[in-house]
Amino acid sequence: MIPDSDLRLDPCADLVRLPSTVPDREDATDKPEEACGVFGIYAPGQEVAKLTYFGLYALQHRGQESAGIATFDGRQLHEHRDMGLVSHVFSPEILQGLPGQLAIGHTRYSTTGSSRRCNAQPVIVETKLGQLALAHNGNLVNTTQLREYLIGLGSEPTTTIDSEMIALIIAAGVNAGKSWIEATIAACKQCVGAFSLTIATPDGIIAIRDSHGIRPLVLGVMPDHIGHYVVASETCALDIIGADYDRDVKPGELLWIDETGVTEIDWASAPEPKLCIFEMIYFARPDSWVNDESLYSYRMRLGKQLAEESPHPADIVIGVPDSGIPAAIGFSQKSGIPYAEGLIKNRYVGRTFIQPTQEMRESGIRMKLNPLRDVLKGKRVIVIDDSIVRGTTSRKLVKALRDAGATEVHMRISSPPVTHPCFYGIDTDTQDQLIAATKSVAEIASQIGVDTLAYLSWEGMLTSTNRDPKSFCSACFTGDYPVAIPDGVKKSKLMLEIGARG
Ligand code: SF4
Repeated sequence: MIPDSDLRLDPCADLVRLPSTVPDREDATDKPEEACGVFGIYAPGQEVAKLTYFGLYALQHRGQESAGIATFDGRQLHEHRDMGLVSHVFSPEILQGLPGQLAIGHTRYSTTGSSRRCNAQPVIVETKLGQLALAHNGNLVNTTQLREYLIGLGSEPTTTIDSEMIALIIAAGVNAGKSWIEATIAACKQCVGAFSLTIATPDGIIAIRDSHGIRPLVLGVMPDHIGHYVVASETCALDIIGADYDRDVKPGELLWIDETGVTEIDWASAPEPKLCIFEMIYFARPDSWVNDESLYSYRMRLGKQLAEESPHPADIVIGVPDSGIPAAIGFSQKSGIPYAEGLIKNRYVGRTFIQPTQEMRESGIRMKLNPLRDVLKGKRVIVIDDSIVRGTTSRKLVKALRDAGATEVHMRISSPPVTHPCFYGIDTDTQDQLIAATKSVAEIASQIGVDTLAYLSWEGMLTSTNRDPKSFCSACFTGDYPVAIPDGVKKSKLMLEIGARG
């Protein structure tokens, strides 16, 4: 018997450790950060690496720290991972060096594990059936137990990411004689938290979602190629390669894709859908589809609902680009107040190691957004944003609008106050950093300098989905976590007195 530890590849061993690319929190966007995009394709005879590249390109908004692709060419695995944007990580030459009939890919924003090249995914491990590559979107909350379990097996993780633990547990199952499917289901039954996974093996692809389906995952088909399938975090990654949306992977479902087609297995005993509502409000691209409509339409409805709940006289309605725009259009349509573009976004801003000067820092917001003076001058402005997290960006934004000549600034937020952190794969601040956890709406309005401030109601947010409100996770607005958070993990992000309630 070969011990598991000898079968495993060390993802960090042959890679240079690079400095973090995460900007200072003060310079980071004042928004929750998405935590990864995953992709998988089974398409013998096609350029699977290139198609995966474009899938990841469409999912770039879900993570900008690192990107990676793994392909299988018969029994042989080929992979390339590195820090940076998808377009920087891959060149035509690198893609040519990734042949195969199937591929998976990943874009990463770190929520567990540091921002290091060795933590870039897909995670690669060896098993007795061959290598396995795994891409993960989500976050596990029982990593302490999983680590202990793996140490007990003599298979200690070499990185700090929970995704490696999933891969190692699957490998341990395969090495104990299970099939790919059996080992994956057994591993997922041990994992508590959020996971949408794409897994490449020499024999086929696995797509699997946790029993709540907290992170999205969809299945697509290649219309001109019978038997070719795609799985991805969002439908926008299907569109870009010409694949047709077939359906969502169900919460608690595993798909095995190989030359025989798609095998569907309901692996969870009591699946209970709890899709992250923030995916609908902000994270997912507005042109992605959930439940037979684009998120653009949902976000417009949020704006209409907001106009109904919190109207105010004004001359123009503007949205904070890009994510506040659909709700601003909806608000304008419902209220009859003209919509205008009042803020222009610098679309070519990326992460930078060059820090702005102190003076630039103070004007901060203009790094990314510039107000249109001739639109704003002398106007009473309603400005729509999708969320306020710490309030630092909102304060700079309001100042910029007033400096540009707005006579009144009324802020409307197309989601309720964020009062609790996320433990399921979204990088929110600790609770004490969330402005709405410690301040009333009036206090927030005063702090960010608006004339009036109103948030969308929790009920309004959920009823606008036109679906069963119970089928969503909205814990960052309520503290009602659908998957229990262990006390030790809670303490890392929740304020104690509120943590006791949460
Ligand atoms: S806590 Fe908030 S961000 Fe996290 S999964 Fe639930 S709704 Fe989404």
